[in-house]
Amino acid sequence: MDRVKTRMPITLICPNLLCRSILQVPDATRGRKVRCGKCGRDFLVPTAENTKNAKKSAAPAAQAE
Ligand SMILES: [Zn+2]
Repeated sequence: MDRVKTRMPITLICPNLLCRSILQVPDATRGRKVRCGKCGRDFLVPTAENTKNAKKSAAPAAQAE
């Protein structure tokens, strides 16, 4: 029996702003390209769990209140 570890799928949102469908890809696709089944767009799956942080830090830090 070739039983692999339980792999949590990664939930992503398609980066295509006109699509934005929610995709679930296997954990094994981290750092690789996947294709959105809806719009057919290829994009890279983020490698680490810093997905949320990366999005925030990628935003311009021009908010001084
Ligand atoms: Zn898409």
